[in-house]
Amino acid sequence: MSLPPIHPLACDVLVIGSGAGGLSVAVTAAHLGLSVVVAEKTSHYGGTTAWSGGWMWIPRNPLAREAGIQEDIDQPLSYLRHELGERFNEAQARTFLENGPGMVDFYRRRTALQFIDGNAIPDFHGQTPGAATGGRSVCAAPFDGRRLGQRLYDLKPPLHETTLWGMGIAAGAELRHFFNALHQRTSLWYVTQKLVRHVWDLLRYRRGTQLVNGNALVAGLARSLLDKSGRIVVNSPATRLLRDGKRVTGAVLQTPEGPLHVQARCGVVLACGGFPHDEDRKRQRLAHAPTGREHWSAGSRSNTGDGLRLGESAGGQVRDDLTQAAALAPVSLVPRDRSHPGDDTPAQGHAHFPHLIERAKPGLIAVNRHGSRFTNEASSYHDVMQGLLAATPQGEAPEAWLICDHDFIRFYGLGAVKPAPLPLTPWLANGYLKQGSTVRELAQACGIDPVGLQSTITRYNTLAIEGHDHDFGRGTTAYNRIQGDAARATARGLSNPCMGPIEHGPFYAVKVVMGSLGTFAGLRVNDQAQVLDAHQQPIAGLYANGNDMSSMMGGHYPAGGITLGPAMTFGYIVAHHLAGIDPAHSPLNDSTASN
Ligand SMILES: Cc1cc2nc3c(=O)[nH]c(=O)nc-3n(C[C@H](O)[C@H](O)[C@H](O)COP(=O)(O)OP(=O)(O)OC[C@H]3O[C@@H](n4cnc5c(N)ncnc54)[C@H](O)[C@@H]3O)c2cc1C
Repeated sequence: MSLPPIHPLACDVLVIGSGAGGLSVAVTAAHLGLSVVVAEKTSHYGGTTAWSGGWMWIPRNPLAREAGIQEDIDQPLSYLRHELGERFNEAQARTFLENGPGMVDFYRRRTALQFIDGNAIPDFHGQTPGAATGGRSVCAAPFDGRRLGQRLYDLKPPLHETTLWGMGIAAGAELRHFFNALHQRTSLWYVTQKLVRHVWDLLRYRRGTQLVNGNALVAGLARSLLDKSGRIVVNSPATRLLRDGKRVTGAVLQTPEGPLHVQARCGVVLACGGFPHDEDRKRQRLAHAPTGREHWSAGSRSNTGDGLRLGESAGGQVRDDLTQAAALAPVSLVPRDRSHPGDDTPAQGHAHFPHLIERAKPGLIAVNRHGSRFTNEASSYHDVMQGLLAATPQGEAPEAWLICDHDFIRFYGLGAVKPAPLPLTPWLANGYLKQGSTVRELAQACGIDPVGLQSTITRYNTLAIEGHDHDFGRGTTAYNRIQGDAARATARGLSNPCMGPIEHGPFYAVKVVMGSLGTFAGLRVNDQAQVLDAHQQPIAGLYANGNDMSSMMGGHYPAGGITLGPAMTFGYIVAHHLAGIDPAHSPLNDSTASN
C-alpha cells in the first residue's frame, strides 16, 4: 500500500507503534482534541495486539459493576501487593486501578470500541489474598471489519495457525461451539453459519471480516482514531528521535519516499512492543537464551527492540530488576510452506504457535525428555514455563512434549492441529505432530524415555480417575477449572474438569519450547508513563507505553490481560498528560471511578 503524504509534518502527538500501547494513546489524545500521527514499521498495523486474545485486566470495570460485582480498590490492590512482593509499586498500582474503570467507560460511551465482560474469569492464583473469581477483566467485543473500509486491508490479520482458514475464533462460548460441532446440533448450526459468512468474506473482501479477540481490539481502536481524523501510516519505522536540548520534539520516519521528519508539539510515545525478537537484548535479559536465539516468542516479528533503543538514545533506562523479563508461554514451531499477509513470518520458516487453550483440558499432560511431568499443566502459560525452567537441569534445553490420545486430539486438537473432521495427515507428514500406536512407540518417535513416559501415564491415569492430582494439584484453583472442561469430564464420569485418562491409542505429541507472549522488561517510567533518565527525572516530551514501558507487574503474571489492561489504561493516562488534563477531571468521562 503506498503511503499517503503527511500534511503537515507537524502534529501534537507522534505515536511510534500501532498495537494497543500506541493506539490507546492515539485514540484518547485525538478525542481530547490533539492531532495525532501513528507510525507503524510494517505494512500492517496492529502488532502483537492483533494476534492476541484481546483480554484486558481492569478490576472494578463498569461491566462488572453493572453485573453486581462490586469491590473496593483495596481488594485488587491487596492481590497485587501479595503477588508482586518486592516489585509492588503502590503509587503506580493505584494510578492503574483508579483510571482503568474510567478508561473503559470512555471507550464504551464515545468510541467504536466495545467490550464483553470477563465476569466469570478468575485471577491466576486463587490462593493469593485478594484474588477474585471474576469481574476483573474485559475483552474487545466482536467487530465487523467492513466498518474499516479500505483500512481493513492493512489491519494485521490474526496469526494464521490460530485461525480456521483465516477466521478468528473467540475464546469461551464460541470456541466451545467449534469443539462441539460434530456432537451437538446447535453447535453445528453455529459453526456452519460462521463458515458460510467467512467464505463469502473471502470471495468478496479477500479476508475475514468477522473480527474477534485482539483483531477486534485493534479494529475498534483504529476506527475510533480514524473517526477523529487521526492518522496511521504504515511502512514507516521510526529510526531516530529529534531533540531540542534534552527535550524530545519528534522523530525521523524511514518512509518509502525517504526520511521524513515529524515534529510533535506535545510529545512522542514509544510503543514498539518491547524486545521479543531482539537477539542482543534477549541474550542479556533471558537466562534460558544464552545466544539470544533460544527464545521463540509468539509476539510480532517486527518487535525488535527499536523503542527501547530509541528511549536509551534520549537517556532512558531499560529496567534489569524484574523477576522475569518476559511473559513466558509454551510455543511450538509450526513448519510453513508459504507466507501469509501481514505476519512477517518467513515463507519457509516456522510460525511460533502459543499453547494457551488445550493444556488444562482433561486428557493431556506435559512431560520432559525423561517422560516425567514437571508442573501443573492447567496453570497459566507463564507458570507452566517457570515450572519447566525450574525443573530443567543446567545445561539442558528447557523443552517439553504435550501428550494426548486419539480421542483428545480429535475433540480439542493439539496446538496448530485442528479437531475432527480436519485431517491429521498433513501434520504427521511435516513432522509437527508425532504419533505412536503405543506409548512406547510415541516415546521413541519423540526421543523421550519410554519407560519413564509409560510409568508417568499409568500414574496420571490413576490420579485422573480418582480426580485428585496429588503430584501437582491440577484442577485445584478456579483458574485451573475454568480452563478445563467440566461438561466433558462429567459426561465421562470424571470429577476433575482438568483430568482425564490418556488411554486409547494412537497417542500423539507436539514439542514445545521456551517462548513468550511478549516482554516485560522495558523503559523505566513514572506514574504518567514519562520515560525517566538515569537520575529518575522525566525526559521532557518522551513517553513509553505497552511493552516498551516496563511492566507494572515487575515480571510477575497475576492474571490474564495484565499487559493489555495496563497498556489501555496508561494509554489513557498518557494522552491526558500530553493534553495537560488530569484524568480525574477528564472531559471524556462522565463517571470517573471512585475509590
Ligand atoms: C497469541 C497471543 C495472545 C495474547 N493474548 C493476550 C491477552 O488476551 N491479554 C493480554 O493482556 N495480553 C495478551 N497477549 C500479549 C499482548 O498481545 C502483548 O503484550 C501486547 O499486544 C503488546 O502491545 P504493544 O502495543 O506493546 O505491542 P504490539 O501490539 O506488538 O505493537 C507494537 C508495534 O510497533 C511496531 N514497531 C516496532 N518497531 C517500530 C518502529 N521502529 N517504528 C514504528 N513501529 C514500530 C511493530 O511493528 C508493532 O506493530 C497475547 C499475545 C499473544 C502472542
